[in-house]
Amino acid sequence: MTDNYAVIGNPISHSKSPLIHGMFALATGQDMAYQAIEGPLGQFAATADAFRAAGGRGLNVTAPFKLDAFAYATDLSERARLAGAVNAMKFEGERVLAENFDGVGLVRDVVHNLGCPLQAKRVLLLGAGGAARGTLLPFLAERPAQLVIANRTADRAQALAAEVAGQGPVSAGGYAELTGQAFDLVFNATSASLRAELPPVPATVFAPGARAYELAYGKGLTPFLRLARNAGAQRLADGVGMLAEQAAEAFAWWRGRRPDTRAVIDRLTVPLA
Ligand code: NAP
Repeated sequence: MTDNYAVIGNPISHSKSPLIHGMFALATGQDMAYQAIEGPLGQFAATADAFRAAGGRGLNVTAPFKLDAFAYATDLSERARLAGAVNAMKFEGERVLAENFDGVGLVRDVVHNLGCPLQAKRVLLLGAGGAARGTLLPFLAERPAQLVIANRTADRAQALAAEVAGQGPVSAGGYAELTGQAFDLVFNATSASLRAELPPVPATVFAPGARAYELAYGKGLTPFLRLARNAGAQRLADGVGMLAEQAAEAFAWWRGRRPDTRAVIDRLTVPLA
């Protein structure tokens, strides 16, 4: 019998998840269907209830429902709890198991696909929203030398750092405090690039040979990546690999088979030019 999965969001027509999971299912021979659901605003629980009642096995969750999914879950993973948001759910009878794979997907892309271990590196994370939150535990698990969080609203960055203070060498502040500091890896987890804006990060944050990673994907050379390139960053990447890897994590969690992500990344890559 075909097992049903879906991604729920609003809007949802832009979502790459049906394409990605369709490719994974074909490659791994899984008998599953995956659709996109545009959930009416304010009705996440009713929409998820209806999907489960029709036999749905699991959901990916995207904006604006990640917090609704957090509230809907009966069993939250530690990652989802810290992220304060859920991007994947699995239904087992009355139980709603909930996960957040964004951070592990990002780390897997950086370490495995891009060949850049975070261990002993100086890491700068720009932004303190949902995506930044989800990266904290996976980043610290890689034992960087230093993890600095910078955000336009410095209080939000400081609150995040306080939540994981016991887990590793983390500190936080505003952009002005970055003057005079240099990092091996700089991640843009702000949403500035979605509006072609540049967070006010000094070009001097890129140490010689630094790598710059833009979490947004499909935008080509964003203002952040252009700044990094002009500042001499050695390697640039966007979030297409993160997208593919978080999907692969969810797929493996649902189906017990971890698909290879290369074909998906190749299909969705937009040149950074
Ligand atoms: P969010 O929760 O809305 O957080 C937005 C963050 O961006 C906040 O820290 C905000 O700062 C900051 N910001 C917005 N505009 C800014 C500007 N002009 N200058 C400086 N800071 C600015 O967004 P999110 O869900 O975390 O998403 C962040 C990014 O990650 C987006 O580009 C999204 O596409 C990407 N993402 C990628 C994947 C993937 O799979 N590749 C997955 C999830 C998210 P304040 O706190 O000061 O407002």
